[in-house]
Order: sequence, then structure tokens, then C-alpha cells
Amino acid sequence: MQPTDQYNRGLSDLRISLTDRCNFRCTYCMPRELFGAEHLFLPKSELLDFDEIERLTRLFAGLGVHKLRLTGGEPLLRRGLPELVDRLARIDGIDDLCLTTNGSLLTHERAEALAASGLSRVTLSLDAIDDAVFRSINDVDYPVADVLGAIDNAQSAGLGPIKVNCVLQRGVNENQILPMIEQFRGTGVVPRFIEYMDVGASNGWRLDDVVPAREIVDTVRTEHDITALAPAAPGATASRWHLTDDSLQFGVIASITQPFCGGCSRARLSAIGELYTCLFGVHGRDLRALLRDGADDATIESTLASIWRTRTDRFSERRTAATQHETAGRRVEMSYIGG
Ligand code: SAM
Ligand code: SF4
Ligand code: SF4
Repeated sequence: MQPTDQYNRGLSDLRISLTDRCNFRCTYCMPRELFGAEHLFLPKSELLDFDEIERLTRLFAGLGVHKLRLTGGEPLLRRGLPELVDRLARIDGIDDLCLTTNGSLLTHERAEALAASGLSRVTLSLDAIDDAVFRSINDVDYPVADVLGAIDNAQSAGLGPIKVNCVLQRGVNENQILPMIEQFRGTGVVPRFIEYMDVGASNGWRLDDVVPAREIVDTVRTEHDITALAPAAPGATASRWHLTDDSLQFGVIASITQPFCGGCSRARLSAIGELYTCLFGVHGRDLRALLRDGADDATIESTLASIWRTRTDRFSERRTAATQHETAGRRVEMSYIGG
């Protein structure tokens, strides 16, 4: 039986973080002051291994999950990724298997190998077209041109339509909206502008740093004629738009100003096997302990189902100064739980 939660939301998506490590230090996600040389990342023995990930995914698929997203940290840092993709793509019920990456390790050969293993699509992250702005956001001096190269690699391997995530921060890259649109017109790539979120505790988020969805759309309108499109699927997070000359589609993800908790069907698995039923969770449920203590499939499946049935998360809809304060300093980091 496929479980529904306390607000009648089913479980259809699972996001799996494959590692807490990353080769970038995006200032809003893994600021160098907190993720510097002294930061202790997880040892390999703590991470779920491929057998464990495959087994949990199979059990989740039995409960209604059909869409998987592999993320991190930087998921391409995980060795043997094509093998894992191959194993996950074969699971009954999984019809969409995506990867979110910063693109720095997405060579032509890797993209081809992932496509051959059954990866459906890739989302790349690129927060600016201006090279200096991008280098200062990723804080490892990584050039825009190389991410554009990775986008080409993904596209030529057939891992499209490619989406490009661009997290907007006031005073940092809000002037990159129109350059993004210009860059991807006529390419089939779909940029998605994302409101900067108060995930985790390390990025010093303030509401004033958010560029609201309405302003993003209005900015595009200053230069282009645009029309709204119907949502891609019920519960979809992005509002979709297209330039009326048909040269580009883009999305806007208004997690802060128009929260979408009502249709939230996503579960998240951290790299060490903790299950979070909300991006803003404070505690995960330890599934690795069950696996490593020898629990059988029926026990794990009924645990997953009962966690989902008791779920009441609606953090973004309830976001107020009080809830911010209650969880401040305790929320799990984005690089740990996966975006
Ligand atoms: N390293 C990979 C990447 O950057 O694509 C995958 C993991 S990253 C945590 C996944 C996505 O979350 C990225 O597109 C990133 O820009 C986004 N992200 C990270 N912190 C965020 C925040 N505070 N608000 C909104 N999006 C955020
Ligand atoms: Fe790394 Fe992605 Fe976070 Fe940037 S957003 S630091 S690339 S995990
Ligand atoms: Fe889902 Fe939590 Fe985000 Fe609401 S705040 S959409 S429940 S992850």
C-alpha cells in the first residue's frame, strides 16, 4: 500500500545525497569559513554503499517513489557512479533518474557513460554568466566556460532537456537574469531561477537577500515578451514560462515567496542513510542502523511507510520569525542533505 502523510501527500520522489564533499565552496552553500581545511567530512565507511542505496531505493519504489535525483555535495565525486546509476535505473517503478551537479567533473566520457547506464537527465548549477561573478560565488575560481562545456557534454550525450539552476541573491547575481536568458536562447537548455533559501545554518541567510519570483519574472519582461506555461506535473516546484518567440523556456522556483508544501512528495536520504521528510529538517531517521543491524525488507518497508504516514512537514508555508528562531542553528545543511 502506498502511504500518504497527514496532509494526504503521497511519496513519489527520492533525493539521494551521495557524498557531503564538494570541490566548490559556493558562498551560500559551503562557505569557506565553515568548510575549510579543518572541516571533517564523513569517512567512506560511514557512507551508504551501493548495495545499501540500491536496497533502500527498491523499498522506496515499492511505496510509490518513481523519480530519483542523485545529488550531494558533488555527486560526481563518488567513485563508480555509472555502476550505481545502472543498478538504480533497473529498479522496477523508477521511470526518471536525474543527477544534479556543478558540472566540473562532467567530461564527455563521463556524460556518455552515465547516459549508457540509464541516467535520464542532468541538472547543472550555474549562478552567473559573468565569469568574475561566477568565480567569486563558487570561491574556487572555477570558470563559466567550463560549466558551459559540461552542459554541451550532457546535451550531446542525450541527457536532456538540460536544466540549469541559478540561485539568485540580492546584490550578488540578480543582474545575471537577462544574461542567462541570452546565453541559453535557442539552445534547448532550460534555465531555472531559484529563490535563495534559508537551508542549514551556515549561510547567514536573510530575507532581504532573496530576489522574489515576481521580480525575476518582471526583469525578464523588461526585455522579452513572455507567456506562462502549465506546470510540468502536479506538485511541480517550478512555475514555467516561455519567450513568445519560442526561443527559450525558463522556470522560477519560488520556495520562499510562494511555497509549495501542499504538493510536496519528496523524501531525502543523506549520504549516511538518514531519512529527512523536509529540506528544513532538524533530525533525520537513521535507516543505516536498520540496514546494518540486519533488518529484513518487510521491517524496513513498514518503517519507511510509518515515517511517511506521520509526516506533517510544511516548513516553508509556516516560515515566520518564530519558526526561523526555533530551528536556527540546527537545520541540516544543503550540502549534507542534497538540494
Ligand atoms: N553540487 C551539486 C550542484 O551544485 O549542482 C549538487 C548539490 S547542490 C546542494 C544542489 C542545488 O542546490 C544547487 O543547484 C545549488 O545551487 C542549490 N542550493 C544550495 N544551497 C541553496 C540555497 N541556500 N538556496 C537555494 N538553492 C541552494
Ligand atoms: Fe558544492 Fe553544489 Fe554546494 Fe556549490 S551548491 S558548494 S557545487 S554542493
Ligand atoms: Fe517540502 Fe519541507 Fe520544502 Fe515544504 S518546506 S516544500 S514540506 S521540503
